[in-house]
Amino acid sequence: KTFKSLGIIEPLCQACEQLKYKIPTEIQSEAIPWALQDRDIIGLAQTGSGKTAAFALPILQALWDAPQGLFSCILAPTRELAYQIFETFESLGSTIGVRCAVIIGGMDMMSQSIALSKKPHIIIATPGRLQDHLENTKGFSLRNLKYLVLDEADKLLDMDFGPIIDKILKVIPKERHTYLFSATMTTKVAKLQRASLINPVKIEV
Ligand code: AMP
Repeated sequence: KTFKSLGIIEPLCQACEQLKYKIPTEIQSEAIPWALQDRDIIGLAQTGSGKTAAFALPILQALWDAPQGLFSCILAPTRELAYQIFETFESLGSTIGVRCAVIIGGMDMMSQSIALSKKPHIIIATPGRLQDHLENTKGFSLRNLKYLVLDEADKLLDMDFGPIIDKILKVIPKERHTYLFSATMTTKVAKLQRASLINPVKIEV
């Protein structure tokens, strides 16, 4: 299998090549075709499986297809993970001119507000700081969100981000696509799944 045979467009295949992604990993082979058919996805996969590109490539492809107002938010449990995801989006998106912003705690609110005012296509955030901006940054909202990703959902919930995620779910469109990735399927993850995904395809690697 190649990224092209999974349905990935040429500029993104080129970006994969530049990153030395020669063959899609298992989670990528399984998830990408469903994602390109607009399905919600639950991916049970560990770090190291290539899960980031499994959700980043379909989102970037949708952005390329409809650059008007497409807006995606990726929620991650830790600053380090958010930053890694940001870097993957930046490098995979380098051939299609994507604007990404990373919104994490411990950094200056004001410079993040400026970054948000530049209308990024993709925001990678830790939940607490995102909520802080939703409440305090004028002109910032998730009203036009098309794609939500909950990455490392088990960890998000272990860190008690559940209530903040519930609040965020209330202010994003119901008409959107959602990808949930988790290393384990727990009762709490199953509950979050029911609250956030519609008729998902479940992929386990
Ligand atoms: P992740 O599980 O998303 O954290 O990815 C783990 C590592 O695998 C990262 O360093 C990626 O750059 C790398 N990677 C992702 N997809 C591929 C691929 N198809 N071929 C080779 N390396 C990959």
